[in-house]
Amino acid sequence: MGLANIEGDQHRVTFKITASFQPQITAPDIYENVNPRNNYFRIEEFAHGNISFVDGLGCNTGYFKLDNLYKGSTTAAHEYGHTLGLHHPTDLDLRGKGRPGIMYPRGTLVDAQYQYNPAAHAGDNTNGGTMHPMHRRVRQEDIDLLKLHKLEYDNGKAIVGEFTSVWHPNHADISSGDYLLPITSLS
Ligand SMILES: [Zn+2]
Repeated sequence: MGLANIEGDQHRVTFKITASFQPQITAPDIYENVNPRNNYFRIEEFAHGNISFVDGLGCNTGYFKLDNLYKGSTTAAHEYGHTLGLHHPTDLDLRGKGRPGIMYPRGTLVDAQYQYNPAAHAGDNTNGGTMHPMHRRVRQEDIDLLKLHKLEYDNGKAIVGEFTSVWHPNHADISSGDYLLPITSLS
């Protein structure tokens, strides 16, 4: 259970997330949206760069690669963390420190049981010697980084994150030359 201390009161933190499939959505639907509860992620089989991404830190749009969303995947939760403003930790060697938190990226060094291949040497990325993302979890430290106590509350409500409102085409329909990964994008 997550906790946040806001103006001296301890609050439980829960993430209530719902999703709906909206294949008919248009670019104006996305860039005219003013509801901070709405995030828009295009999900396709193909992605230039072969990764799922969001449009920056504190955003509300992105693009997911379908096969990143396997059962038990933590990709959506990780990308959602970026939409709330969280970045990757700087120390990516977690050996001896237990289970990785949700914001660790692919390539992180971890104890053997959290690797793609527990038998691989740590760091051997030809043989699965890095973190398997399915082992990531949301920890209290991740919730602390949201700095919920610093938000501006209006009638008990505050907005976490920002609007980017980018409509993404299907990457299968455009060449990689027509597409530049936004420099702020984070997988
Ligand atoms: Zn990331």
